[in-house]
This record gives sequence, C-alpha cells and structure tokens, in this order.
Amino acid sequence: MSKTSARKTFSFSDAVLHWYHQHGRKNLPWQQNITPYRVWVSEIMLQQTQVATVIPYFERFMDRFPDVQALAAASQDDVLHLWTGLGYYARGRNLHACAQKVVSDFNGEFPRSTEALSTLPGIGRSTAAAIASISMGIHAPILDGNVKRVLTRFFAIPGWPGETRVQNQLWEIAEQLTPDHSPRDYTQAMMDMGATLCTRSKPACGICPLQPQCKGFASGQPTQFPNSKPKKEKPVKATLLVMLRSPGGEYLLQQRPQKGIWGGLWSFPEAADAATAQQMISQQLPGTEIAEETWLTPFRHTFSHYHLDIQPVLFQLSRHPSEVRDSAADAIHWYNPASPSALGLAAPVKMLLENQQTESLL
Ligand code: SF4
Repeated sequence: MSKTSARKTFSFSDAVLHWYHQHGRKNLPWQQNITPYRVWVSEIMLQQTQVATVIPYFERFMDRFPDVQALAAASQDDVLHLWTGLGYYARGRNLHACAQKVVSDFNGEFPRSTEALSTLPGIGRSTAAAIASISMGIHAPILDGNVKRVLTRFFAIPGWPGETRVQNQLWEIAEQLTPDHSPRDYTQAMMDMGATLCTRSKPACGICPLQPQCKGFASGQPTQFPNSKPKKEKPVKATLLVMLRSPGGEYLLQQRPQKGIWGGLWSFPEAADAATAQQMISQQLPGTEIAEETWLTPFRHTFSHYHLDIQPVLFQLSRHPSEVRDSAADAIHWYNPASPSALGLAAPVKMLLENQQTESLL
C-alpha cells in the first residue's frame, strides 16, 4: 500500500483525530505538565499494565523522583521499592539504568530523535516514538499493543503480531497512516482508541469512527484479530520458600542476583526440600535452632515463561542467630513487617509477609 493510497481510500487519521478531540482522555496525570521524563516513565509503567493500576504508581513515583536527575541519584532499592506490585521488574531496573545514562551521556536531557532514544535501556522503537511524538512533537509512528490491535482489526491482518512478517507489515502501515501534523494528538488518539474503544474482548464497534471501513468489523468477528500467539504449554517448576523468623518477629531476606527471576529484589531463601532447608539453618545460622516448623498453604505464581509452584515453610527460630553464613546471597536483611524497610520485594514474598502480619494482629 502506498502512502497516497492509504490516505485516499479512507482518511483514517482524520477519523481518529476527530474522535480523540471529542471523546479522548486528556486528564491522565502524565498528560499534564508534559515532559519527556514524565511521558517516558508513564510509557514504561503502562507496558503490560492497565491505566487504572498505573496512576497511583505514577503519582508516587513523581512525588519521590520529580525529574530524571532525582531518579538517577536514587538507589536501586528505592526504585524497586516504589515498583513493588507493578510486576515485570526488569522495567524498573531498566528505568533506573536509563535515567543514569540520560544524566551521564546526555547531560540530563532526553535526546531528541527516536534513533537516539532507542539506544537507551528499556526503550524500544515504539516507546521511543511515543516519547518523541508526545513530548517533543516529532512525527513518529508508534506500534504498541493497543495500536497493533486496532490495525490488525481494521485491515483484518492474519497472523500473530509477534511474528516478524506481521510486525514488519504493521510498522509499514503505521508509518503510512501517521499524519505529518498533530503528532502528539495522533499518538495519544491511537493509544486511546485501543484502550477504550477497540478493546481486547468487547470492541465498541457501534460507536467507533473507523467502523465504516473496518474489515475486522465487516468480517463479523473482529475479536479474531489479532491472532493469538501459538500455544505452548508453560513448564512447571517448584520451590520451597524458607521463611526464617527470629524471636523478635523479623524475617531473613536475601537480595536476588540482578539476572534471573526477581532480579535485584528481596526474597526468602529457597530450598529444594525440607531436609535441605533444615541443613541450611544448622550450617548457616549458628547459635540458633528451629523452635517450630509450619507448612503454609502452597500456591502457584505464574511468570511469562513458566509456572512456579511455591511451598512456603515458616521456621520459627529459637534465638536470633549470631551471624548468617551465606556466600551465595548478594546481601541479607532482617525484615520487620511491623516497621517495613523500603525494599523492592518479590510479589509472593510481599504477599506472604502481609499474611503473616495480618495473622499476628488477629
Ligand atoms: S470497528 Fe470495531 S474492530 Fe474495527 S477498529 Fe473500530 S472498534 Fe475496532
């Protein structure tokens, strides 16, 4: 499809912009006082996360780190602490690394081109385009999940958008449809259309400005687009989370290595089974022994690439150990849920600590 033919056949961008001016959302926190920093943080938080979930996180983040310099100067623990519960923690780590790079390599100013923005940690092509168009008024097509959904439906494009062939086709179309004027509004309009009208399971075709030309709608089954990722069974792994509680009610946490699951976050030690856990306690925690052992309710935590069946076991220690001999952990911390430290916690660990705290109050 040539640029002219895409425009001639239907004024896609005019329809989208007209709808946005009348109905689009313009009061989201990151749409106020627009700066590259605020747009960037919101874009990273919004990846794989709903707007309603992101809003309080974004506001807390802006209160604590009002600009890129403040974020760059923070410790990783501070950043991950504010990220706790938002998931996909690589985003939080990359956000921190990116802020440090903007300060060290770009004098604290986000570069003004999508190519340069894309070289920063955690910023892909579409995020770079969103930052450039929304905060700098640069003409740059985006292709996030929402836009992919609108385009695959509008053009009834078969195939999974994660496939390179489909992805290339979508980028080409996004390029052709993005108007030379109003880059900020068009980007926000496309995101909004996907988030509020052309939604995943219940597209509001009846009030959609694209409906007269939409092939997905004409097919009678718009939700068949985009096609789902070919199914692959997720493998199941299992672990025992060893919750070591001191007589003072503090729990031993270890900082996870930067690479791997829950990278850089704090978690309970893991063990293959109860015998290994007991052996670990006797070898690594001198001056104490197990006063009580309680097996808590097991549960499943699902990552993007596998399920993890977690068996939490609470070991009440008889005395606070004189030391912790653990060369494998990056760092250890005795965490008191009654006066919690500002640490980034893995989601199941946060949940288990909260449950224990609730029980102790009953
Ligand atoms: S008509 Fe329906 S399927 Fe087509 S773009 Fe609009 S909401 Fe999506």
